[in-house]
Amino acid sequence: MDNDLITSTKEFLNEGEQSILFTTARPDVIMERGDGMFLWDTNGKQYLDFIGGWAVTCLGHCPLVITKALEQQSRELVNASPSFYNKPMIQFAKLLTESSCFDRVFFGSSGAEANEGAIKLARKYGSLYRNGAYEIITTINSFHGRTLATMSATGKKKWESLFEPKVSGFKHVPLNDIAALSKAINPNTCAIMLEPIQGEGGVFEVEENYIKAVRKICEEQSILLIFDEVQTGIGRTGTLFAYEHYGIKPDIMTLAKGIGGGFPLSALLTKEKFNIFEAGDQGGTYSGQPLAMAVGMAVVKEVIAKDLATNAQVQGNYILKKLNKLKTEFNLKDIRGKGLLIAFDLPTAKGSEIAFECFKEGLIINSPQPSTIRLMPPLIVSATEIDDMLQIISTVLKRVL
Ligand SMILES: *Cc1c(COP(=O)(O)O)cnc(C)c1O
Repeated sequence: MDNDLITSTKEFLNEGEQSILFTTARPDVIMERGDGMFLWDTNGKQYLDFIGGWAVTCLGHCPLVITKALEQQSRELVNASPSFYNKPMIQFAKLLTESSCFDRVFFGSSGAEANEGAIKLARKYGSLYRNGAYEIITTINSFHGRTLATMSATGKKKWESLFEPKVSGFKHVPLNDIAALSKAINPNTCAIMLEPIQGEGGVFEVEENYIKAVRKICEEQSILLIFDEVQTGIGRTGTLFAYEHYGIKPDIMTLAKGIGGGFPLSALLTKEKFNIFEAGDQGGTYSGQPLAMAVGMAVVKEVIAKDLATNAQVQGNYILKKLNKLKTEFNLKDIRGKGLLIAFDLPTAKGSEIAFECFKEGLIINSPQPSTIRLMPPLIVSATEIDDMLQIISTVLKRVL
């Protein structure tokens, strides 16, 4: 079909249904425009966005700093190839290493790609220093991405029998269970990989005692500790990186989602002593791509300059306080989270229905598990928008529960 002939929303949707490979059910709308906390569809309907592009648009939709960075960089250099340094790549790596406990950065385009890099780096470490150890321990209910290796790393029950044979070498243990972890370690173990707060799994946080014990075990047995901060990084939990909450430092950290503010970008960070890849071990055509580097740098600078981590903490606490006030009325359970990564459980498995009803009312929220609602708004959110969000949720809960 000639694209010029697709005019109405209905025709677009029909065409989409026929031309987009099915991977997920989508509502019958086409998103057209975004600004700050809001999205608009092609019918002009406005949505208050509490998923923020899936924990991605930390500065809200279409922030000026992204427009400016793209405009400026696209005039100077779009792509010289990964075989050359470019200025924004070096400046951005410097910003990230100066803002964290790490010394070295590898850039990619997605969270899964950064995690693949982390898995490869851990295996390289195992082959060089641990007699070929290659096993990586991850947690049940974790999420690490959708490539074959990261699906294998992911501790999602539903995925266990998918796309066999899986990449071997992953063991899954329950989160916050130090005995189970100790038991899973053997001479083949090269790394332990964790999300400081399981995001897709439904917002479950590591306990401070647990993660400190994990750090100690890793130290004693020369095992690497990998933090998957794809969702928790860049201010989301109230500190620039979630590891800062626990008084420990991982050996490797991966970032994506918020780091590009909506632009496809990810990073793997590590310490100087794990700068052990040889030429050709790791790479990617878009690693250090100048447009991505310019945008990422602009986004992270803005998050730091505006201290949006603190705003995440303040507004997150406000959401928790308000949710706790609704707790008895709607029989909500386990209101939890840190900063602007928040979830609560419903008395029944009506998560998708609640999310869909909110959507019809112009509010976007997420139900990561059948009875769980998750909120992950842009870090710029204010109390007014939080009040509006809770107003809609209350109305919908009254109706549905
Ligand atoms: C989203 C996510 C990923 C995967 O990132 P993609 O950019 O979708 O590949 C990996 N780990 C965590 C913790 C995530 O939340």
